[in-house]
Amino acid sequence: MQLIEEESSEIASSNRGPGRYAVFGQPIAHSLSPRIHAAFARQLSIAHDYRPIEASTEEFVGALAAFAESGGVGANVTLPLKQHAARLCLSISETARRADSVNTLVRRGEGWHGESTDGAGLIRDITGRQRLYVRGRRTLLLGAGGAARAVAFALLDAGIGELTIANRTAERADALADAIGQPERVHTRYWTDLGQWGGFDLVVNATSAGHANMSLALPTSLLASRAICYDLSYGKASFGFLAWARSAGAGHALDGLGMLVEQAAEAFEIWHGKRPETDAIYAELRAYLPGDAED
Ligand code: NAP
Repeated sequence: MQLIEEESSEIASSNRGPGRYAVFGQPIAHSLSPRIHAAFARQLSIAHDYRPIEASTEEFVGALAAFAESGGVGANVTLPLKQHAARLCLSISETARRADSVNTLVRRGEGWHGESTDGAGLIRDITGRQRLYVRGRRTLLLGAGGAARAVAFALLDAGIGELTIANRTAERADALADAIGQPERVHTRYWTDLGQWGGFDLVVNATSAGHANMSLALPTSLLASRAICYDLSYGKASFGFLAWARSAGAGHALDGLGMLVEQAAEAFEIWHGKRPETDAIYAELRAYLPGDAED
């Protein structure tokens, strides 16, 4: 049976100390997470052996078991494994349960505890690093996959106004709206009808279309004046959406690099009980990534 817990500090304190950490996904070779975690470990003088492990959905159970066997005590999980990770956990935080997505695993006794830090990472980036407010913003969420689920709840918790969800596969948008269960505040729209809607103050692209170099074909009428447009992806995958945002008159066109760094900091704190400072590694990665990815 899977237990649901919201508080992670006790779990963190019981897992502190040396041990192995990893990020699982496929593909994983180009993940920035090892670089981010190495910087956090140096900054806080914490021993933190963190490596990428390539695993398909079929391989994940075995790879995670082998990792635990070899001293693994914590892991991040990325595409396409976040929902699989949620199923494998013995206990799971309320945040991860709502998102049906686990991106941070903590070894606890003979099993894994699951957390989701993506939503907190997004909100920290927008409100902390970018110093923008989300409260009351009429928000359009594009996508209904694992990341969209995580950020939908986080945005609502952060006080956005109405949330409209549009997804290529309409049923998944409906399922997310049903899971949220706030019909007076959360609506779904068919992607093909987006041209009829407009005036959004915040548009969050949580699709993976940019990774496949596919255009979202969005109407410019979607945006209210000075709207924030945020793509969860970063680097080249975000260029198409950010170019559209600028051409549609967005006040801010932001990629997901800051979210990546902030969700990693959340995970690091869960594992080690200390929160790293994120500005230096964010600046380093911003300089390293191809340009044109932030306003
Ligand atoms: P996912 O579960 O595979 O979901 C993918 C979503 O994209 C689905 O809603 C899918 O729609 C939609 N989609 C894919 N191709 C599309 C297209 N051509 N046109 C329209 N919609 C399309 O992936 P995920 O884990 O949610 O990740 C989504 C994005 O967020 C990725 O770019 C990922 O890199 C990024 N992300 C960033 C961070 C960060 O820290 N910055 C963290 C997590 C995720 P269907 O349902 O119709 O298939």
